[in-house]
Amino acid sequence: MSTTPDNAVQPITLTGTGGIDRGAHHRLDEAWLGAAWSHPSTRVFVVSGGQALVEERADGRTELVLMPSFDAPLTEAHRYFLGSDAEGVRYFALQKDALPGRMDDAARPAGLREAAALLSERDNELLVHAVALENWQRLHRFCSRCGARTVIAAAGHVRRCQACGAEHYPRTDPAVIMLVLDEDDRALLGRQVHWPKGRFSTLAGFVEPGESIEQAVVREVAEEAGIAVGQVEYVASQPWPFPSSLMLGFVARATSFEVRADGEEIEEARWFSRDDLRAAMESGEVLPPSSVSIASRLIEQWYGKPLVTAPW
Ligand SMILES: [Zn+2]
Repeated sequence: MSTTPDNAVQPITLTGTGGIDRGAHHRLDEAWLGAAWSHPSTRVFVVSGGQALVEERADGRTELVLMPSFDAPLTEAHRYFLGSDAEGVRYFALQKDALPGRMDDAARPAGLREAAALLSERDNELLVHAVALENWQRLHRFCSRCGARTVIAAAGHVRRCQACGAEHYPRTDPAVIMLVLDEDDRALLGRQVHWPKGRFSTLAGFVEPGESIEQAVVREVAEEAGIAVGQVEYVASQPWPFPSSLMLGFVARATSFEVRADGEEIEEARWFSRDDLRAAMESGEVLPPSSVSIASRLIEQWYGKPLVTAPW
């Protein structure tokens, strides 16, 4: 079957399309936000330390635990407005120091990595937005211009310095992740030093200041595996708020083929044919990346079918 990157027109995201309209124009409108918060249809969840409560329903689906705002523990919480769905339901997250206790045992805390494989696209979209905001808020309590304390504004989407008035916006760090193919359509997979035994995946790295994303692909592949690449083709992106990355996925064509792993970040890198990879996965020698990561989607697109792998 054809598995060229030309087929790669569908966006791949961690959260799919959950149908949430972020309504950014409402974020500075306190009267609107107050009315939205008080509306009986509004739904709220608590995010804390990158986790929220999830609950398995009788039909086996797992859902984010959403509550009406009059039940929400607003004290000592930061309120993030996340948007509205097609039915007009408004969603808020409350960032707190701890998740609320529950009278029943059905709800349990889950982080984004676990939740991504369980929740609906809507719930995932809400959670990834809230976790990304929480991570950014936590790391930007002080003004990077003058060092004074900042306070939350714009329904969680701005931090404002009380001393110099600077406004700070949520930060997203671009990272490139790439499946490199050779002349025989073999894929270059590597393993990072700290990964579990047998885990192989695509190469990846952060975009540096003053660099295009295509240049970052070329540089990272050269640094990590000693391979030169020519054609670099963008495929799709995935928000990856651990704490603030945006993964930009590529397929790249190698123009040199002798692998030299850098030995620091990447301890081993190898070319795999599809047969090589199938045999290595079947024998247990190779453990493919998480099924919810863009790495697995890039590999699957080349491999031609789903990888048999646990979510995490
Ligand atoms: Zn300042």
